[in-house]
Amino acid sequence: MTASSQGTVAGGPRRQRPVIAIDGPAGAGKSTLAAHLARRFGFLNLETGAMYRALALKALNTHSPLDDEGVLVRLTETTQIVLEPRPNDTNRVLLDGDDVTRRIRERDVSEAASQVSVHPRVRAWMVERQRALGQQGGVVMEGRDIGTKVFPDAELKIFLDAQDEIRGQRRYLQNAGSSDAPTPEAVLAAVRDRDARDRNRAASPLQPAPDAIHLDTTGLTLEQVCALAEEMVAAKMPS
Ligand code: C5P
Repeated sequence: MTASSQGTVAGGPRRQRPVIAIDGPAGAGKSTLAAHLARRFGFLNLETGAMYRALALKALNTHSPLDDEGVLVRLTETTQIVLEPRPNDTNRVLLDGDDVTRRIRERDVSEAASQVSVHPRVRAWMVERQRALGQQGGVVMEGRDIGTKVFPDAELKIFLDAQDEIRGQRRYLQNAGSSDAPTPEAVLAAVRDRDARDRNRAASPLQPAPDAIHLDTTGLTLEQVCALAEEMVAAKMPS
């Protein structure tokens, strides 16, 4: 991809269409909101968490130690991760050509992704690819560090949050019904664990960018959240 050649501003070429950064903890509703906004405005929807999950899966498959940054960095050298946006849905994810879309949502991969993501050089590899994917704009990118690190110049930054209990409950309902579904208490504990690791790591911890709009979805319906965010994006569209 090449950057837009339409005019320049200090710091790089100006984008014709905005980058929408959505960050926040697990279960806040980022993926649902991102998919909705992407469909509504015809933007690409890129879930950066899926990239960490895919690398984590490769580490699990190759029995690589999750706490060894050097080993993980070497692993990236032979790893190809492709995110294929799908209309109003999560991304299809290919790891070295294999479709791992469903597998990367399983519990062991969620846990491993959060461990893999603490390493600064792993993050640098991810960030470089994420910038290349989004630099032309017209993209909704969701994760933990999009507004702070990947696109600090994003035209709109939303920090999506909700009370722990609500986030745990949403995650529980997503997986309820499957035969090995964990209890609500176990889901809440796992969400809290991941959040604590994401918030407390040294490299790009989960935190709102200073210019992010904080949207607490605790008492809101999905429709209300989408309507609020739509207004915010509409205000950033070129007239
Ligand atoms: O968003 P999702 O739950 O799929 O992310 C999985 C894990 O990947 C998170 O718990 C977090 O540790 C990591 N992640 C990250 N930075 C991002 C996206 C995800 O550290 N931009």
